[in-house]
Amino acid sequence: MTDPVVIVGGGQAGVQLCLSLRKSKFDGPIVMYSAEADAPYHRPPLSKSFLLDKIGEDKLPMRPESFYPAKSVALHLNQAVTSIDLDARQVLSGNDRQPYSWLLMATGAAPRQLPVDGAELSGVHCLRSLDDSRAIKARLNEVDSLVVIGAGFIGLEVAAAARSLGKNVTVFDTADRVMARAVAPAISQWYQDMHLQSGVSLRLGEAISSIGGNNGQVTHVNCADGEVLDAQMVVVGIGVIPDAGLAEAAGLHCDNGVVVDEFCRTSDPFVFAAGDCANHPNPFAAVDRLRLESIQNATDQARVAAANIAALASGGAAESSSLTSYKAVPWFWSDQGEHSLQMAGLSFDADEYVMRGESTANSFSMYHYRSGKLLAVDSVNMPRDHMLARKLIEAGVSPGAEQAGDSAFDLKALLPSKA
Ligand SMILES: Cc1cc2nc3c(=O)[nH]c(=O)nc-3n(C[C@H](O)[C@H](O)[C@H](O)COP(=O)(O)OP(=O)(O)OC[C@H]3O[C@@H](n4cnc5c(N)ncnc54)[C@H](O)[C@@H]3O)c2cc1C
Repeated sequence: MTDPVVIVGGGQAGVQLCLSLRKSKFDGPIVMYSAEADAPYHRPPLSKSFLLDKIGEDKLPMRPESFYPAKSVALHLNQAVTSIDLDARQVLSGNDRQPYSWLLMATGAAPRQLPVDGAELSGVHCLRSLDDSRAIKARLNEVDSLVVIGAGFIGLEVAAAARSLGKNVTVFDTADRVMARAVAPAISQWYQDMHLQSGVSLRLGEAISSIGGNNGQVTHVNCADGEVLDAQMVVVGIGVIPDAGLAEAAGLHCDNGVVVDEFCRTSDPFVFAAGDCANHPNPFAAVDRLRLESIQNATDQARVAAANIAALASGGAAESSSLTSYKAVPWFWSDQGEHSLQMAGLSFDADEYVMRGESTANSFSMYHYRSGKLLAVDSVNMPRDHMLARKLIEAGVSPGAEQAGDSAFDLKALLPSKA
């Protein structure tokens, strides 16, 4: 019997690999290890609807329990892979040795820790796992106010959720605008206005020097300018670092994550990587390679890894030319309060921004260009624009700035007609 495909990490990419392998008629054994006790679940609601009790825990699992035995996937929960022997093609989990035919590294990412005194106090939270979200939710029930450190997607989603629960919320960020690394200045401005109107206090361009407490419990934050601010609870959302320690220790090439080629293959031909942990070449990026932290990326990379593993397993892909490349348009969303932000493409290095619609009407899109080429579109409460943007970027179609800025102009007409 052939050795199984082994997956390290029971998250978005891991589950998608199982689905796509079975869809591609791969019928060999699959073994999935997850360091977490909960069966694979959706992470996006953890900072949104789950915090607000709009959905319960029953809605979080990605697949029902019966899925894994039905698909002949041996799911090992609460069992971290502790090392990998690339030469023997085995993973080790404690004393267990598990041989593999192909391996997927889908270990995700871990929250970046705030490097200040007091970050270890009880009541200081980060948010990556269901356990983290449970803890935040429980604590939110007990407090009147919280401090959020980091005005990125997760920080702002938590801030909006807490505010809608009636809490006093203060958000700090060292950047001078919210979501500074991800969106155009006009989108930041719109979100700043929205959060301020809803009663969130935004402290942009300001840092925390330490977190203070009493009896091990957080009580306040010390601002860099000397101000002391009461804090019954602190949520830190300052980004993530790829979980690549295991891969690096095994000898896989790592550099800001596990380095993969366009086929999602690592420096070892029997090991693939996908999702937040994978540093990959991306045809839509202005840089040679990057990591993306999104459901789209984890899902689409796992699909590519599955196609390639299935082809290799069937002996049908001896040549790289018969492997599948990763070339999906990046997209992402963030729900803050009642508003939906959707992003298509990658906007780094944009040198021109064009607005479509009216920001005062609370539904508009921002088209990002570099040297006249459409790079990305951020849409606020404009789901149709977002879907169209994905198609335009995929097709390499760049509407002229005047066309993009004219809401009456039918951008769909620019798409190539299907043969
Ligand atoms: C609160 C929150 C909200 C988000 N909202 C959005 C959103 O709105 N839109 C969006 O596109 N994306 C969102 N994301 C990001 C998205 O969830 C991630 O990009 C996606 O989950 C990445 O999938 P992954 O499989 O790479 O990693 P993960 O889903 O993180 O899975 C990795 C798994 O591997 C496990 N693991 C790590 N090491 C080992 C080991 N040695 N052995 C066994 N298991 C191991 C981890 O415990 C984890 O369970 C959000 C993330 C969070 C945390």
